[in-house]
Amino acid sequence: MKHFESRDGALYAEDVALERIAAEYGTPTFVYSRAALTEAHAAYADALAGRDAMLCYAVKSNSNLAIMNVFARLGTGFDIVSGGELARVIAAGGDPAKVVFSGVGKTRDEMRAALTHGIYCFNVESEAELHRLAEVAASLGKRAPIALRVNPDVDPKTHPYISTGLKCNKFGVPIADAHRIYLEAAKLPQLEIRGIACHIGSQLLDPAPVAEAAGKVVALAEALNRDGIELRHLDLGGGLGIRYDDETVPATRDYLAPLLAVLAGRKERLLLEPGRSLVGNAGVLLSKVEYLKRGEERNFAIIDAAMNDLARPALYDAYHRIAEVRPRGKADIYDVVGPVCESGDFLGRARELAVEQEDLVAIFSAGAYGMTMSSNYNTRARAAEVMVDGESVHLIRARERIEDLYAGERLLP
Ligand SMILES: *Cc1c(COP(=O)(O)O)cnc(C)c1O
Repeated sequence: MKHFESRDGALYAEDVALERIAAEYGTPTFVYSRAALTEAHAAYADALAGRDAMLCYAVKSNSNLAIMNVFARLGTGFDIVSGGELARVIAAGGDPAKVVFSGVGKTRDEMRAALTHGIYCFNVESEAELHRLAEVAASLGKRAPIALRVNPDVDPKTHPYISTGLKCNKFGVPIADAHRIYLEAAKLPQLEIRGIACHIGSQLLDPAPVAEAAGKVVALAEALNRDGIELRHLDLGGGLGIRYDDETVPATRDYLAPLLAVLAGRKERLLLEPGRSLVGNAGVLLSKVEYLKRGEERNFAIIDAAMNDLARPALYDAYHRIAEVRPRGKADIYDVVGPVCESGDFLGRARELAVEQEDLVAIFSAGAYGMTMSSNYNTRARAAEVMVDGESVHLIRARERIEDLYAGERLLP
């Protein structure tokens, strides 16, 4: 995490002191590093150099327009899961012709919007969706480009809530049924078959499951070719993990190597849908210690960020490293908690911190599934977001105002 390092005893984001950001923008604030985003993208671009490939950034991991715009300028496409995310792609200057649309519950309105904007591909997740899409395309006089999202039934060995490729879950169609469904799709003139899609899970640290999934996708592609169905692309999804604690995370190149070996000699374009690995370690959540509360069994550091700002610890029992922005005084062991009225409202447990009240702390690896999973629980306004670029700081989302939170609400007459 070299873009968030200590200089002369205090943490910086690139060339900007986090203390300066807190003074200017307040806390809690998500702080992103543009250099970290660019570097994570370059790791994919380098690993894929010389091969026909397209990166589709998974918008749900962080959908701030400025972040999406950084990737759009680098030439990426986008993986979306809602009509709202399509609107963001357009507002961020992204190219709809490089958009793939995943998700099990696409509505007719979302299909119409995506067809009207000419997205690259629908990743269709069920037979029922296939038929609805054909019907909506017909009503617009258009053909819908599709891939079937297949479920290769490989175990990605990750958290059960974020594994998606096993038989027992709601995503995609079982790979054993896929061939039959492709033949059905081929008969529908409103559909244009473009590829095969799969995404087996998130925070993957072992390259073997994705390579195994790729093997199954290639076997399906060969079987379809024998039936005269040609494919433009194979989409292997996202999922590469990041280092939150002391995990051993393969370099992007090493993670992709076994997958690329399986695809060697295939003529189809490769699509990947990374989210977390592009943004996760490009952001920290900057927060202030409001109170230190000492108890008989444990001490609490009560900070001004909470589960509504960063849900992952409460939701998945996820670990995020927490550090003092400027350590001082005597270190002690604290549960780092927010002010929300839930016992599950913790950001970290049993952490050694040298802090005093009103000091700043940084919660690391908060760039992915941080702001996008935030809520207004307890009528808490959402945090501000800033992006650091060298010595410059740009406000990329203003802190919400309390009035905004109930602006759409009405009293009874
Ligand atoms: C969430 C998701 C991704 C991104 O996953 P990461 O683990 O963030 O890389 C990609 N594709 C699909 C279909 C997803 O649901």
